[in-house]
Amino acid sequence: MIDLRSDTVTKPTPAMRDAISSAEVGDDVYGDDPNVNALEAEAAELLGKEAAMFVATGTQSNLCAIMAHCGRGDEYIVGHEAHTYKYEAGGAAVLGSIQPQPVELSADGLMDLERVAAAVKVDDPHFARSRLLCLENTHNGRTLPVDYVVAAQELGRDRGLSLHLDGARLWNAAVGSGQTPAEVAAGFDTVSVCLSKALGAPVGSVLVGSADLINDARRWRKMLGGGMRQAGVLAAAGRYCLDHHIDRLADDHANAARLAEGLGSLDGIAVDGPHTNMVFVELGDHDPSTIGAKMADAGIQISAYGPTVRLVCHLDVSAENIESIISALHDAIR
Ligand SMILES: *Cc1c(COP(=O)(O)O)cnc(C)c1O
Repeated sequence: MIDLRSDTVTKPTPAMRDAISSAEVGDDVYGDDPNVNALEAEAAELLGKEAAMFVATGTQSNLCAIMAHCGRGDEYIVGHEAHTYKYEAGGAAVLGSIQPQPVELSADGLMDLERVAAAVKVDDPHFARSRLLCLENTHNGRTLPVDYVVAAQELGRDRGLSLHLDGARLWNAAVGSGQTPAEVAAGFDTVSVCLSKALGAPVGSVLVGSADLINDARRWRKMLGGGMRQAGVLAAAGRYCLDHHIDRLADDHANAARLAEGLGSLDGIAVDGPHTNMVFVELGDHDPSTIGAKMADAGIQISAYGPTVRLVCHLDVSAENIESIISALHDAIR
């Protein structure tokens, strides 16, 4: 099966499994795991921050960060379609007593900064205390424009807000725009990156920031059940991915571009993209479940639940696969 549902579906490569099987380990709760320590040092360096913490998931990473920035009765300002707000089970509110203040987010991942400014509360006992502004890069595969990021950061600083970046796919933003990972991470107090998405690791995310913030986040991670022991078997896979799987994202982006090009000639559908490693297909009058079933028959898994289907290119989708996907979708639409 070719699986286009997400870039989370990748399987560890043989070389990654070698790194896992030969990994030296220790008890990370005692700070004794050499691979976790090395991964944290390498990720901090790569992203231009002082310190890093290995975590189980991006959700845990974002929640630890938000809880390190905000206390009970504080609020964080976030896009209404942002992952931290919409797809993380309300963790900040439920477990942190932190109020989200959503602001409308465009499909490109942008908030109107005047609305952000208007959402910042004055110091008044009626209001939650505005503490944090969260951005997401990439959003729907779209890389945030640098001038938008800088303007949002200036606004946040000006209003006394801390800045967090949900950079689950920061690697795609960097490779797609020609920036270094540290450049995409610049200006944020904390940044969360996934190892288990674009880079193809089986498990894991990393939160980076100042030593003080990461220290606080470590206490929250423990409370959230994230104090892992011989986590070096996972960290070794993450280290392998940081060394070998960042530059190759250019292949995924090229595959997405070829996919978009090959689908563009289809009648009755609209193609939106490529956006880094993603292509969105609007099915028009075609029934999503019929298209999904036909694609499954052709050995291709897609998430066809609504009128728009997201196709995600990744480590386990080759350039030859792209040609089969294009012809299968042509057949399915016909
Ligand atoms: C997937 C994702 C996360 C969460 O990562 P998990 O490891 O699945 O918890 C956070 N933010 C964004 C933008 C994501 O796409």
